[in-house]
Amino acid sequence: MDIPPSHPRYTSLLTREKLVEGVRKGFTSIHGLIAHGRGEAFDYLLGEKTHTFAIEAEKTAVAYLLTSEHPVISVNGNTAALVPDEAVNLAKVTGAKLEVNIFHWSKERVEKIRDVLLDSGAEEVLHEGDAELKGIDHSRRFVSSEGILIADTVLVPLEDGDRCEILKRHGKKVIAIDLNPMSRTALKADVTIVNNIVRAFPEMIELAKELKKEEREEMEKIIRGYSNRKILSQAFTTIKDNLEKMAEGIL
Ligand code: ATP
Ligand code: MG
Repeated sequence: MDIPPSHPRYTSLLTREKLVEGVRKGFTSIHGLIAHGRGEAFDYLLGEKTHTFAIEAEKTAVAYLLTSEHPVISVNGNTAALVPDEAVNLAKVTGAKLEVNIFHWSKERVEKIRDVLLDSGAEEVLHEGDAELKGIDHSRRFVSSEGILIADTVLVPLEDGDRCEILKRHGKKVIAIDLNPMSRTALKADVTIVNNIVRAFPEMIELAKELKKEEREEMEKIIRGYSNRKILSQAFTTIKDNLEKMAEGIL
């Protein structure tokens, strides 16, 4: 589909097209389209832009990735469709590993996501699922013994609440990217980036390049000073303020 750049919803439509393409090629799950729709609704309420609370969370997330021993970026079908190059770049600048982990599991889809990341320049993509995270009963319990199993920090874009909880129970720091600040994932993660992944990933790459120049102590200070509850509260307030403005403006 050709979308003219002048269309008022150009970016949003382009993003949808990428997901549809992912489904057509067989690496994005059809359920991923529903998940994206939920995300879009919250993006609308947030004004479809990056807020300062998202930047603060992104900076802290990057500080975690840079200071962790075994940081892992978990990639699902939506992430592979929307930000494949950026996922690979973020892994490179932060030294994190890439691991394919999907909710609606199939060997074929896992391998297709791996191939998307390899095409985007990844040197290594963990996808074996040769280890098990105890306490979770769907196929996402299968993780890589060199990746999520031993990870101290896991970045999980568009995560499901259950798995976020399991990762936490296994003692991992969880960074979520989720436009819905009310989701179970958003409420449970250590760092919740309430932003669209198409904006968050490029911003995190830039923040990582900057932060890498700093001393470790500086990154630890950022982590210590961070409050996820404060960030979530600001996200709720932003949505409320936006709705209030609309409510007043319509009269
Ligand atoms: P939870 O299980 O955490 O309560 P959920 O069941 O509402 O969440 P899932 O389908 O498990 O949602 O996961 C999808 C999540 O990803 C949604 O919360 C949605 O807001 C978010 N999401 C979808 N697309 C994007 C995107 N492009 N950027 C950021 N977040 C997104
Ligand atoms: Mg869910």
